[in-house]
Amino acid sequence: MTGCDPGSIGGFNVSWGLSVPAVDDMDEVTVIPEQSEQEGLPQEGGDRYYCRVCGALITTGGERTEIDGGHAHTFVNPAGYIFRIGCFRSAPGCLIIGEPTREYSWFAGRFWRLAACALCTTHLGWAYGNRETREFFGLILDRLRRGEGD
Ligand SMILES: [Zn+2]
Repeated sequence: MTGCDPGSIGGFNVSWGLSVPAVDDMDEVTVIPEQSEQEGLPQEGGDRYYCRVCGALITTGGERTEIDGGHAHTFVNPAGYIFRIGCFRSAPGCLIIGEPTREYSWFAGRFWRLAACALCTTHLGWAYGNRETREFFGLILDRLRRGEGD
């Protein structure tokens, strides 16, 4: 060791008199799952959604999907009606009506068409996608009756 003596840079030996607690001990962190009223419901498959008016099978729980961060969304239409809708990848019991439009679309940039019960034509929600293809359905949850299949 020659020539690399860093020398003395001492001279400051400040004691603040503080005792800093160790904060890097994360072993005690417990993640508590969010409780919800849907607890206990099957998360996939099993449950089915029927038209509340005529009882036709519309779609199933296995088709539920999350769009823009969630399955269920609450929207208000230009007339002031509040809709709580759930997103589904497909809804075989729906009839899709009308020309695609982006006017007042609740899902940014997406076109929508009306989706109605194929049996009784009750308006059940909307089919979203781009102009040519269908991406998902947003169905009005209180127009569906949820039940178990056979
Ligand atoms: Zn129906």
